[in-house]
Amino acid sequence: MAIQPDPTLELAIRTIVDYPKPGISFRDITTLLGDARAFRRAVDQLVQPYAGLKIDKVAGIEARGFILGGAVAHQISSGFVPIRKKGKLPHETVRIAYSLEYGIDEMEMHKDAIEPGEKVVVVDDLIATGGTAEAAIKLLQSIGAEVVAACFIIDLPDLQGAKKIEALGVPVHALMEFE
Ligand code: AMP
Repeated sequence: MAIQPDPTLELAIRTIVDYPKPGISFRDITTLLGDARAFRRAVDQLVQPYAGLKIDKVAGIEARGFILGGAVAHQISSGFVPIRKKGKLPHETVRIAYSLEYGIDEMEMHKDAIEPGEKVVVVDDLIATGGTAEAAIKLLQSIGAEVVAACFIIDLPDLQGAKKIEALGVPVHALMEFE
């Protein structure tokens, strides 16, 4: 579900057809990030649903979720937790495997990054099938986090990822939708 359609933000996204392979339209947010006004507006809109709420941590999914999640965390005065591809974090981790289009990958986070019961918002640039966000939410829940929402710049509703996340009881916020 889009928070409030903002055509100026949609124009700041660059679409690269047939990348990384034929048939995929890659939605490139680096053009939005490089545009100071668009970046500011996007972050302002991402934080809107959490105004007045006490969010303990923002969990950003590697790698574009780090850029957006860091800005969101700063704006809502919460901590930031990186969810990383396996093998990158130096301390004790929890890990989860998840399916990609071809094969399986794993993501992990520090075991002590969240206290049980802390309220967490998950941030990434885009939700497609929802498999990545689902794994991140399950990883967070496995160490006792209360995941209160997941937010994205872009939702690809045809792939039904937001529905998958909402079926877990986690509301999804996205600034725009693309086919
Ligand atoms: P999914 O797990 O299918 O929801 O895929 C979401 C993850 O893959 C996010 O981390 C996105 O950055 C990336 N992704 C998937 N599809 C696209 C796309 N069309 N354009 C840009 N990034 C994508």
